[in-house]
Amino acid sequence: MSRTSDVLVVGGGIIGLVTAWRAAQKGLRVAVADPRPGGGAARVAAGMLAAVTELHYGEETLLGLNLASAERYPAFVAELEAASGQETGYRACGTLAVALDTDDRAHLRELHALQRRSGLESQWLTGRECRRLEPMLAPGVRGGLRVDGDHQVDPRRLAAALLTACERAGVAWHHGWAQSLSVVRERATGAVLADGTELTADQVVLAAGSLSGRLAGVPQDVLPPVRPVKGQVLRLTVPRAYAPFLNRTVRAVVRGSHVYLVPRENGELVVGATSEELGWDTTVTAGGVYELLRDAHELVPGITELPLTETLAGLRPGSPDNAPLLGPTALPGLHLATGHYRNGVLLTPVTGDAMAAVLAGGELPDVARPFSPLRFAPASTASPSAAVPPVCVPQEQPV
Ligand SMILES: Cc1cc2nc3c(=O)[nH]c(=O)nc-3n(C[C@H](O)[C@H](O)[C@H](O)COP(=O)(O)OP(=O)(O)OC[C@H]3O[C@@H](n4cnc5c(N)ncnc54)[C@H](O)[C@@H]3O)c2cc1C
Repeated sequence: MSRTSDVLVVGGGIIGLVTAWRAAQKGLRVAVADPRPGGGAARVAAGMLAAVTELHYGEETLLGLNLASAERYPAFVAELEAASGQETGYRACGTLAVALDTDDRAHLRELHALQRRSGLESQWLTGRECRRLEPMLAPGVRGGLRVDGDHQVDPRRLAAALLTACERAGVAWHHGWAQSLSVVRERATGAVLADGTELTADQVVLAAGSLSGRLAGVPQDVLPPVRPVKGQVLRLTVPRAYAPFLNRTVRAVVRGSHVYLVPRENGELVVGATSEELGWDTTVTAGGVYELLRDAHELVPGITELPLTETLAGLRPGSPDNAPLLGPTALPGLHLATGHYRNGVLLTPVTGDAMAAVLAGGELPDVARPFSPLRFAPASTASPSAAVPPVCVPQEQPV
């Protein structure tokens, strides 16, 4: 059986869905292959839109893309909510990054200096000023950075809204694993699903998150260098009597580990996240939960009073430079939209726009050009003929 479209997107996480939605809006016939579209890492993610507080040394190029996406967020969610009839939980609430001891404070001071050198807005506060903003903070807080531009969205609701928007825009679903990419005369022509269904398309987008490097049939020199980076997350509930528990996202580095608390309007409080290089393991461990609760408790002692409602682990699609791979590959007809690592929720709007521009026959927009997959191409651009042998595609989604 063979089914045809203009664009086939392999992977229906938030990145595949936003690509499909935006491409369909351009008038393209789009299909998505995924056994469970709308799942993936977004089921776990905290949803911080943290272009400023997530700034790291050496990631100044990525900062430009992050800021471009953060800027698009208000209009993006307004359009998505109108198209889907669903709310996304977007909150323009800002972020407070605090320090608990002298070392943490020195680290935060350095981050502040880097932010200022990069032209970003953030304000240094004393411990007392931090506690005035967030009275639930521990009395020992030594200082902090107030970043009013780093907001949040609820990734589960974002994914659900994208699913509906895709449906309403006429995107077709294939609820199965893509087992291999089809390549005819050195051009990607579609994919074969695990049940043998052949999907053909003029253009294929590989948006399979941390599994993007595992699709059989993709030539070795085109295969994205993406790896899974495990993150464990807790969800607590703030009873009405305690509200507002926190007014904005609060984060810190506690003895070298990052911890954040993201308060949603519906009373959910997300505490995250571990960062572990353990392959496709998604076990929630006692150690992971313990460390998150220990660090979060040092920051906001009152959290131990709250009901713990969910523990979950997911996989960030990490890339060698922590930045995404967007746009055409050396194999004609094959595009990548993957490797968004710890910023995939933030980068959803700009990814959709960049991918749709390319799929509609245009160029990668300037802001996305540094993230072409060609930056990882081998120095000698050999003919992309040596393909990845078939691998065992997991029947269960790894999140
Ligand atoms: C703990 C944690 C916290 C995070 N916090 C934040 C945050 O605060 N802010 C932020 O911006 N980002 C955050 N992220 C990162 C963000 O969640 C990811 O970057 C983003 O969700 C990646 O989306 P994706 O669509 O590329 O991949 P995924 O979500 O992994 O989706 C890939 C999809 O492809 C499908 N698939 C895979 N292989 C195949 C195949 N062969 N055939 C068909 N379908 C296939 C899968 O079923 C899945 O649905 C966090 C991630 C984690 C794990």
